Amino acid sequence: MSDISVKATEAFTAAYGEEPAGLWAAPGRVNLIGEHTDYNDGFVLPFALPQRTVAAVAPSPDGTWSVCSTLAPEPVSFGVTEPGEVTGWGAYVAGVVWALREAGFEPPAVRIAIDSEVPLGSGLSSSAALESSVLTALIDLGGLDVPLERRPAIAQRAENLYVGAPTGILDQSASIRCEAGKALFLDCRSYEIEQIPFDLAAAGLAILVINSNAPHQHVDGEYGARRKSCEESAAILGVPALRDVSVAGLPDALDRLGDDVLRKRTRHIVTENQRVLDTVALLRDGRVREIGPLLTASHASMRDDFEITVAQVDVAVEAALAAGAHGARMTGGGFGGCVLALIDAAEAGSTADAVAAAYAERGFTAPTSWVAVAGPGATRL
Ligand code: ADP
Ligand code: MG
Repeated sequence: MSDISVKATEAFTAAYGEEPAGLWAAPGRVNLIGEHTDYNDGFVLPFALPQRTVAAVAPSPDGTWSVCSTLAPEPVSFGVTEPGEVTGWGAYVAGVVWALREAGFEPPAVRIAIDSEVPLGSGLSSSAALESSVLTALIDLGGLDVPLERRPAIAQRAENLYVGAPTGILDQSASIRCEAGKALFLDCRSYEIEQIPFDLAAAGLAILVINSNAPHQHVDGEYGARRKSCEESAAILGVPALRDVSVAGLPDALDRLGDDVLRKRTRHIVTENQRVLDTVALLRDGRVREIGPLLTASHASMRDDFEITVAQVDVAVEAALAAGAHGARMTGGGFGGCVLALIDAAEAGSTADAVAAAYAERGFTAPTSWVAVAGPGATRL
């Protein structure tokens, strides 16, 4: 058993005095490209991290739900609830129970203990990993007939309506639907997916993930403001979402948007959607190395047009590129979080060192770097 499986099992036994009936795991994710496009009905291309959250679960003896975590060992217990009744981290779990019921399914009452190796609040989606591990456990233990393609939206409703975080469908889709060795090309309007071969090792390449360890600031407010700008732009342009503006139609759209901020936000979304499509086309052709410039262009667009980067992530991108990376970009919602760099497989150590040196020079908190291989989606262990 992996370390997290052991820790989740031990936490379960310590809290409830019995063995779990089973273990369910769901991964964090990195988004290769396609940032803030999900809530614009656009395209994203995440892959699952090898880092996962494990839920140790067993039926509850008394018809209520209980959940504890190695980070919060005192169990939180609840019955059937409505949004607002369970707060704090337990809301992610109560939210999944609530959203399943809302979707017409009867989740079994269970006891849960959680352990995770997904860093919290680093833009790698520990929240979706938590929701997805619990959702998968409830579906399996309850014998619920919930098709895979419906599951992300159920977990998203838990996060949006119960926890109160207005996130798009990207994170939960990645945690639930990703496959090992593949990137998940997702159309956030139709929820159609395509598993895109993403075998970096065969090409002598690797993705280095660099956690900037920068403190997240104003994330919720800024996220909400970006969403509002996108909705406002779409309304002015008379389209359902910015996904409906093509690169060819962009100059005309920009002319019609009087406001400079709306112009910048719109330019990011429209060009970012196209970069996802271009990345997918290259990957389908096996031309992995050539996606580098698209990643770097995505970063420039997030920095200059969407204005969601901070000094630490810009420095990480610049240092990785200066060290020879084929491309690099911030991944995740922004205002801190992680950077990914496409590098030659042999250069992981030297690239990580170059970024660490650039951080030390500026007095930033040291970054944490690792090579990420595309792992499997949510599953029973
Ligand atoms: P991210 O998803 O980028 O990691 P979020 O702010 O969306 O950041 O989600 C982090 C929150 O999810 C934590 O503050 C906590 O409430 C909850 N969470 C995630 N993993 C765990 C865990 N292993 N134990 C307890 N709470 C967790
Ligand atoms: Mg999250």
